[in-house]
Amino acid sequence: MENRARTTVLIVDEDPVFGIVAIDTLQLAGFNAVAAGESQSVMAAFEQHAPDLVLIEVEKPGSPGFDLCAQIRAHPAGLDVPIVMVTGNYDTESIGRAYRMGATDFVNKPILWAMLPHRLEFLHRSHKNVRALQASDLRNRELLRALPDTIFVVDSHGIVLERLAGEAGAGEGQVGKSFEEVLPADVARKARQAMQAQDGAGVQSYEFSIGSGNAQRAFEARLCPRPDGAFLVVMRDSTERRRAEARIQYLAYYDTLTGLPNRQLVGRELRRAIRIAERTGHKIALLYLDLDRFKRINDNLGHAVGDSLLQDVARRLESSIRPTDYVAQAGPEPGTGDTRIARVGGDEFVVLLTGLTEDSQAAAIATRVRQALAEPFSCGGHRFVVTPSIGIALFPRDGTEMEDLMVKADMAMYQAKDQGRNGHAFYGESMNVRSLDRMELESDLRRAFEANDFTLCYQPKMDLSSGTIVGVEALLRWHHASRGWIPPGSFIALAEETGMIVPLGEWVVHEACKQLKIWAGQGLGYLTIAVNVSPQQFAREDFVDSVLRATRQFGIKPQQLEIEITESVLMRNVGETTAALNRLRAAGVTLSIDDFGTGYSSLGYLKQFPVDTLKIDRSFVKDLHVSSDDAAICAAIIAMARELRLKVIAEGVEVVEQVDFLRKHGCDQIQGFLVSKPVTVENLEDLLRLGTGGQEVTQAVPVGEYAA
Ligand code: C2E
Ligand code: MG
Ligand code: MG
Repeated sequence: MENRARTTVLIVDEDPVFGIVAIDTLQLAGFNAVAAGESQSVMAAFEQHAPDLVLIEVEKPGSPGFDLCAQIRAHPAGLDVPIVMVTGNYDTESIGRAYRMGATDFVNKPILWAMLPHRLEFLHRSHKNVRALQASDLRNRELLRALPDTIFVVDSHGIVLERLAGEAGAGEGQVGKSFEEVLPADVARKARQAMQAQDGAGVQSYEFSIGSGNAQRAFEARLCPRPDGAFLVVMRDSTERRRAEARIQYLAYYDTLTGLPNRQLVGRELRRAIRIAERTGHKIALLYLDLDRFKRINDNLGHAVGDSLLQDVARRLESSIRPTDYVAQAGPEPGTGDTRIARVGGDEFVVLLTGLTEDSQAAAIATRVRQALAEPFSCGGHRFVVTPSIGIALFPRDGTEMEDLMVKADMAMYQAKDQGRNGHAFYGESMNVRSLDRMELESDLRRAFEANDFTLCYQPKMDLSSGTIVGVEALLRWHHASRGWIPPGSFIALAEETGMIVPLGEWVVHEACKQLKIWAGQGLGYLTIAVNVSPQQFAREDFVDSVLRATRQFGIKPQQLEIEITESVLMRNVGETTAALNRLRAAGVTLSIDDFGTGYSSLGYLKQFPVDTLKIDRSFVKDLHVSSDDAAICAAIIAMARELRLKVIAEGVEVVEQVDFLRKHGCDQIQGFLVSKPVTVENLEDLLRLGTGGQEVTQAVPVGEYAA
């Protein structure tokens, strides 16, 4: 009843008495009954009151009320408003006409006034229900249209009854077809099984794909039983989601630069391989590979060249390892060993070898990897040789856990570097002692500097024409309280990374100048001392000043001091480097390029810099008497140096044949174990007093106790 007050009934009459009684009756019953006023047209009243119901009284079949009914229906707001016609008793003609004109219902005269309000209320309520239903139906239709799914209903025999949703075209014409004609065979089979199962109550899901290659599309299908025994089949295209998942998976487990598995994936594979090897009794080898001096390439030639080189290295590694190298493929579980090469860091790779029977197989593969990389690479218009240092850890010999093997292979890799790079080293127990973690070494390094635990060793340089020792190179030594002597190869890089190299390098220059002063007082004033300078030191604005200050402090001739820099220093900042070198040169300090030949400076490039000496890198000298390539490189460097009026010195000379070759080609000086290892200052003085200087070198000289 409360609703009635909000239900407006518009009354249109031909008989004014009817109108009066109707309004009274309906208002009394709680409706908001209104009549079209005399001065107002019916349509104007309709627009003004926006009634929920219209009651039209007609006297006879020809009454104007029928036209009004039609007019209201034709009005946009009157499309579905219920219209009740009040017609004469048993006037069937009027009733028929009323319906044709769009009436909703009719009431016969004479009116049972007590019933009228109820009749209208029912009509109003059912009309509201219909509208609500229509609205929800519309919503459902829109929803179905918006759904990305294809939905159809199948009966209990698997025949498609109705298609409820789906993109136009997709699955059209399926009605009347059987399951088997609509779904892929295996999905249809599973769906049929599910339909036949007694407990067909739950919703079942399936995944399947259609097509192949790039055109393959993935689907998810759901089978929902309906109470009437039919099933609702919902199919969704999950191709995009699957692709996104695959991409995420890829990013989590693969290195995007090289496409190789990453550390996570190779770690997982290693764990799996360990579980299998525990059953089969096979061995596993983990090769940890680091590219020697890769940082220089990145620093000097830019990351683009570095990246492209890493990609090439990855391809070479892949092609150097044959599938048969992992015997796991012949192992009990298919697919094991798929992940054999991974990139685990900037220039670090891991090779996982499973199913080995002998430890030596790992060494053979390490050698093969090195051979594969030996051929020069061409990247970004540059050609270079890249060598690896490879550490090897073995399961079960060195460890039975993934993490342990990784750490040990890494430690062995550092050992391979210490042993002169471009080689491999197996993990050994002794390395454990050296496996000081970085933090420890770093704090040790700081403490050592404060505690004065560093010393300089001196390695003589011999002039080849006179056979006399003309100078020495100062080489840093760290005497560690518990580890003994630590060679610079083990701490210079760390000192460079942490910035410690700056005070340490300054100390070296200071010590060298102090030593020169002492020697001057002992009649050894003809000796020169060469000190090694790191790029980090050289990059500092105050570097030149600090060197010159030291020479002044000890009153030594700057000519006695030589600075050894590597090619990477030259390639950094040409303008500033040249200015700094010029200042040193002007003061009398000599400059030499250390490890020459391992960088990328060309002849033309060198001409720009005021340098005095080239030091041929030990790697070329090492085999020059047995390798024609190395001999050619050494001969070329010497010829080039003479052309540029530079002095040449060969480092790492160990045998007389090397001396013969170098002398023949006009090399000025040599340095190496053949003359002497780096020795303490006392041993050096003994050496000089013994008169080795001045004699022809025909045999190795006894070495000092602190030799590297
Ligand atoms: P470098 O300047 O090229 O020094 C030559 C290295 O070769 C020395 O190693 C020396 O012991 C070794 N060597 C010399 N002759 C022979 C030989 O006939 N055969 C073999 N197998 N090796 C030979 P060391 O002393 O371990 O120094 C390694 C590197 O550490 C040096 O290479 C240098 O780059 C760096 N270094 C040493 N002292 C300092 C320093 O005071 N400051 C800086 N920044 N670097 C230093
Ligand atoms: Mg040097
Ligand atoms: Mg060198």
